[in-house]
Amino acid sequence: MTRRRWIAERWDEATATIEGAQAEHLARVLRAEPGMEADVVAGGRVFHAQVAAVALDGDTREVRFNLLAELEADPALPVTLVLSIYKFDHMEWAIEKATELGVRAIAPVVARRTEKHLAQAAAKRVERWRRIAHEAAQQARRADVPAIDDPTPLANRVRAESAVTRIVLAEQERTTTLRAAILEALAASGAEMPAIEIAIGPEGGWAPNEEALFDANGWRSVSLGPRILRAETAAIAALAVVASHLE
Ligand code: SAH
Repeated sequence: MTRRRWIAERWDEATATIEGAQAEHLARVLRAEPGMEADVVAGGRVFHAQVAAVALDGDTREVRFNLLAELEADPALPVTLVLSIYKFDHMEWAIEKATELGVRAIAPVVARRTEKHLAQAAAKRVERWRRIAHEAAQQARRADVPAIDDPTPLANRVRAESAVTRIVLAEQERTTTLRAAILEALAASGAEMPAIEIAIGPEGGWAPNEEALFDANGWRSVSLGPRILRAETAAIAALAVVASHLE
């Protein structure tokens, strides 16, 4: 039976503490008590750990672990999703699925066709997006939680200096496939998988001047095939294609 894996909110070199609702679940539902063993993630590293103390009184809800031995952590995919802000429920589903699939980070961006009211509401929604990523990482037994950046205008991200391979999923693209672009990046980078940024447009797609901006800043336009996918489907498909080249 694989040990459960918990992502700690606080840690030092010898202990890690789970707080809040997670701690309550551990204590009340899983009846955590000193001596119980579990895998605990602290600062992106995984440890075999043992419950040292459970505190559930008043508004203190904590389970503290002693960290016994560091375990091999399976790394996230070296992929950052530059995700255009669109219908929050669909976008949040994409954040959860991308986390399960191993995305390293998600950078929400305001694209031209991002609806205005969503762009305005995005800054207040990021904490919720971070909680979704945390819970999905927990469920997926990940060794880390994907970083969710603060929303920025698309142009800032497109123009930012970057050494990684930058790919834009373009629904109009017909020649280059994502697979081909990855194989090229692999060939250029030698052994290990190069870090990649993958940009996904909003429900309305990329505006013409955005496609020109990507092109002018060296982003590779790639296709995921002849069908038009929803942004969340494109996110899943793209991460699956990248992961298939990691094995
Ligand atoms: N409304 C647009 C589609 C937007 S889909 C239209 O009908 O043409 C949202 C985003 O998903 C796109 O901007 C693109 O980034 C990605 N996407 C969807 N289908 C794709 C495909 N076949 N190839 C590459 N990217 C795709």
